[in-house]
Amino acid sequence: MRLPLRGGCQCGAIRFEITKRPLTLFCNHSVDSQQETSSAFSMSLLVPRDGLKYLKGAPKAFETQIANGKATKSALFCEKCGTRIANDTAGNPSLSVKASCLDDRAKLKPVGHIWVKEAQDWVVFHEDALIYEEAPDDGYFALMERWAAQEYA
Ligand SMILES: [Zn+2]
Repeated sequence: MRLPLRGGCQCGAIRFEITKRPLTLFCNHSVDSQQETSSAFSMSLLVPRDGLKYLKGAPKAFETQIANGKATKSALFCEKCGTRIANDTAGNPSLSVKASCLDDRAKLKPVGHIWVKEAQDWVVFHEDALIYEEAPDDGYFALMERWAAQEYA
């Protein structure tokens, strides 16, 4: 994966780049993620906080509770077109950038799936993928390790 990665919202009002190595990429099948994307799941690219730079525009934020009710999440979105750019959960060292906003999505290969207990029943998982019924309880370590082996080996 070559840096920087560039991306933006659907209308072009927001452009960004990722300047630090993403930590992992996974699909989130939670009902929350289905709702935020108006789709079956979201693709979450965890990026160090200081690795996301806005080149044009800046997102608006609204505060919400994450599913377990233990933390506040800022949903960062374009105020013109509504595209979700990222989620910023209080206390996390990384941001969850919505990978579908990247310009080049062709080589994005998620290494795992979380919240599969809420997944649409037609979703088929790759046999090599890491699968979690809910959020991983290891601080996403296995997902980060698998990603590093896939992308940076
Ligand atoms: Zn926009």
